Amino acid sequence: MSSFHRDSWVEVDLDCIYNNVQSMKSFLPDGVSIIAVVKANAYGHGDAQVAKTALDAGATYLAVAFIDEALSLRQQGIKAPILVLGASRVKDINIALQENITLTVFRKDWLVEAIQQLNGKNPLKIHLKLDTGMGRLGFTSMREVDEVLQLVDETSSFELEGVYTHFATADELDTTYFEQQYTTLTDMIGFIKEKTSIRMIHCGNSATALRFPDKVFNAVRLGIAMYGLTPSNEMIHLLPFELQEAFSLQSKLVHVKKLAVGQSVSYGATYTAEEEEWIGTVPIGYADGWLRKLHGAHVLVDGKRVPIVGRICMDQLMIRLPHELPIGTRVTLIGAQKDEKISSNDIARLLDTINYEIPCMISYRVPRIFR
Ligand code: PLP
Repeated sequence: MSSFHRDSWVEVDLDCIYNNVQSMKSFLPDGVSIIAVVKANAYGHGDAQVAKTALDAGATYLAVAFIDEALSLRQQGIKAPILVLGASRVKDINIALQENITLTVFRKDWLVEAIQQLNGKNPLKIHLKLDTGMGRLGFTSMREVDEVLQLVDETSSFELEGVYTHFATADELDTTYFEQQYTTLTDMIGFIKEKTSIRMIHCGNSATALRFPDKVFNAVRLGIAMYGLTPSNEMIHLLPFELQEAFSLQSKLVHVKKLAVGQSVSYGATYTAEEEEWIGTVPIGYADGWLRKLHGAHVLVDGKRVPIVGRICMDQLMIRLPHELPIGTRVTLIGAQKDEKISSNDIARLLDTINYEIPCMISYRVPRIFR
């Protein structure tokens, strides 16, 4: 969005994204490339801006969840290769071919149907997904993988560029399940390598790349750490380098008033002043993704933590101010002011969820600006 007309916005520090990608690049062994995961509007940060920054910092491939997300990047001028990680419909493969979008294949019947749609002149780039224990998408049977390799070999409709899997527990301290998945993967890769040569083999998300850089084959799919967030709380003390958090959520006071003893605030009149106090109104609410469950959370004003009081409304919320403050004073919901900081991790803890969800939940209605 180039211009907007409201006093709440997300600020994305692209230098942080750049530095995180560069740190990861220097941390990984030579020859390991970076696939920047920019699905879900780059985890809520802004797809094209993050993609460009990641590519400038040394990523060579992008990954999204759906064809629509890849098309959004193409429409914004991104030419780099893009892998769709999720399921694509066979009826949409010609648009993928036209736009040089790589698709994930995880079923033989999909491939058989796809052959009928393609004319064999320009091959569709594909990566095979192996299910080594995530239980989501992927081939589990080597017999099926064998049949798929044969099919691919017999037609000129596909270019088999890559093979990959996804780990379910790479961010957990107990590595037992991770190791089981890794063993299954190495067996499957061994089998595939006997039949054909594969240019890209990748299994690592951020957690895997940060913890097991010698186990990632020749590419990693870098998501959460690129945005400067730790894959899990367990990993906070295991980071091999510092991550820089790129996302902040800002607003401004649009109204300030003195509440008399006994006066209440917001729906249900659940908050009542016990002494005279200053209340500020902030123009952001649950329709922006700042959920009602966050009542009682704190925000930063004038370098201090102050509480949200009363129920959060659809478009507005109220905070208790330490003293009278001018209209237009900055309110930071995620980010830093002076010595105080509220991270997406803090908000995740309050909502009993993971930090991934926090930037993703801030809705399209909040404009993203880039520094
Ligand atoms: N690969 C796949 C298949 C994913 O689904 C995801 C994210 O959910 C990623 C990679 C990136 O993971 P992370 O954000 O933990 O780095």
